Amino acid sequence: MRFATIDDRLVLVDREWALDVEKHSGGRFSADVNTTLARFGELTAWAAGADWAGAVTFTPEQLGAPSPRPRQVFAVALNYRPHAAEAGFQAPDEPLLFTKFPTCITGPITEVTLPPGKPDWEIEVVAVIGAGGHRIARADAWDAVAGLTVGQDLSERAVQSQGKPAQFSLGKSFPGFGPTGPFAVTTDEFDDRNDLAFECHLGDERVQHGRTSEMIFPIDELVVKISAVCPLLPGDLIFTGTPAGVGNRREPPRYLQPGEVLVSRVDGIGEIRQTFV
Ligand code: ZN
Repeated sequence: MRFATIDDRLVLVDREWALDVEKHSGGRFSADVNTTLARFGELTAWAAGADWAGAVTFTPEQLGAPSPRPRQVFAVALNYRPHAAEAGFQAPDEPLLFTKFPTCITGPITEVTLPPGKPDWEIEVVAVIGAGGHRIARADAWDAVAGLTVGQDLSERAVQSQGKPAQFSLGKSFPGFGPTGPFAVTTDEFDDRNDLAFECHLGDERVQHGRTSEMIFPIDELVVKISAVCPLLPGDLIFTGTPAGVGNRREPPRYLQPGEVLVSRVDGIGEIRQTFV
């Protein structure tokens, strides 16, 4: 199952077709993503037999974030060994967590106004939480994930690294710095939900690529570690980390410029596209 939002309403997606969940369930489910993801098991059961006769076509530009109002957005630093090495750090023993404040979350095809400083890219696979829970066991952790989507952890490195010790969250939360989409894909749709290939292109150049099997802390372990402290809520997001190839670790460093286009793609999900102004 694939889900997304159009005009801030939860829809199921099948190729170019979208089915409005509230309308076509006769009001059984809300158009609000957080409300309906709280009943994620019921939603998938209904979706399996849904009548697509009333589906409408859509274009990618119409899509909003699959989860537009997450109450918590968790993000993981240094979750791929080569990226930890390029950033000058040892691989961490525990997940290094920060937040992207939720006002930065957007849909998949956007124009992003670059702040002054050193704006940079980080492709990430993003987990969208379903019913949620507290102290989730490893055996149940994948069941807590409603779907996976494509994200960019856009990061302004000057704000990110200011202060001693530095804190990551603010520099990663400018407006538009958390694009996600085009849809969330339930984990049963992947041949191996632990091994998704992804890549990111800036203009003609492939700047990052990797596979989620290369994570230091895989997604189910992140769910366990985070939910051991914070109860996970329906619609929460986990940005699961980026591989090597970010701009500020290049020699010389390279930062995003007005007019550039960044396309981020995950196999089995789709792509998001940011144009910078
Ligand atoms: Zn990141």
